[in-house]
Amino acid sequence: MTFISRELRLKSQPTGMPTADNFELVSVGLPDPAPGEVQVRNLWMTVDPYMRVRMNEARSYMPPFQIGEAMQGGAIGEVVVSNAPNLKAGDLVTSFLGWREGFNAPADGVAKLDTHGLPPQAFLGVAGMPGLTAYAGLLRVAALKPGDVVFVSAAAGAVGQVVCQIAKLKGHTVIGSAGGAEKVAFLKEIGVDHVIDYKAVPNLAEALIAAAPDGIDVYFENVGGEHLEAALAAAKPFARFALCGMISQYNAIDAGAGTRGLIQVVAKSLRLEGFLVRHHADLQPVFIKELSDWVGEGKIKWRETVEYGIESAPSAFFKLFKGENLGKMLVKLT
Ligand code: NDP
Repeated sequence: MTFISRELRLKSQPTGMPTADNFELVSVGLPDPAPGEVQVRNLWMTVDPYMRVRMNEARSYMPPFQIGEAMQGGAIGEVVVSNAPNLKAGDLVTSFLGWREGFNAPADGVAKLDTHGLPPQAFLGVAGMPGLTAYAGLLRVAALKPGDVVFVSAAAGAVGQVVCQIAKLKGHTVIGSAGGAEKVAFLKEIGVDHVIDYKAVPNLAEALIAAAPDGIDVYFENVGGEHLEAALAAAKPFARFALCGMISQYNAIDAGAGTRGLIQVVAKSLRLEGFLVRHHADLQPVFIKELSDWVGEGKIKWRETVEYGIESAPSAFFKLFKGENLGKMLVKLT
């Protein structure tokens, strides 16, 4: 029986903040899978800030989404028909074929999911790419040392919530910045020592210096712009910055506007290091082992914000840029 799958295609490249007009929802009929293929019904898909960069024409560290083609991204699905020996109907699989309700693919284009007792969608968040980003960025790139004071921006988001808790589990003082009372309350609940509601303070750099009068040793950068400038102002000599992302710049039409205070990198002998999670895939097994232990011991919590149905994926994506997600933003497809 033909599986009718709806998929979201890029209709046009956005200028500034994307709108619904940049997407097109199209129904496609999936035939029975060919030999060696599986047919998968997606249960969950993720929307992530980096996807905005792929909506531009220019190649970044990933190729741009093509106009008229289904977009891509992480997804968790269930095999509905298998024509491959290593997978059977009912198996849960991860793939990079999100933004659609279902697909046919060669069996080696998906990976069977061992949930380690966690909910499957955790593998798009705390136990997936964002969790590994937090783990690698903090422990390998920033290379935490005893006594470090750690500042985290977008602290109540998918990556930030894990960064804050790993830093706390490793015994550090953590300062988290996020927008709004609900996020502030969550960060206090997970043990963040100083929480800055950056939307409510008149001067972010002053608020950060007040929270860390002796300065910060590590900055986990998710936002850019004013947050980076505040971190430069508050940094101790020889502080390390793990540059994970700069979401405040992704919709900027003039992203080259510049960062004030960059001379502090020289004056304070700072080390700024950008990184991509894909270069740290070797840490995945040790990360999952350590994370499963922390979850089992009740030492780590996480939040998800869930939107429902493929048609809600664009608005879920827009919410990332408006701060309307607490924890990982997900779309539940069935
Ligand atoms: P989040 O779940 O943190 O969602 C984005 C959050 O960013 C929003 O909730 C909002 O939180 C904040 N935000 C959005 N726009 C602005 C703005 N203009 N100024 C300040 N804050 C803003 O997303 P992720 O955890 O998935 O990603 C966080 C960062 O990590 C992003 O920059 C992303 O690109 C990067 N990343 C990098 C990876 C890598 O390999 N280097 C891998 C994964 C993510 P608030 O309400 O607090 O403002």
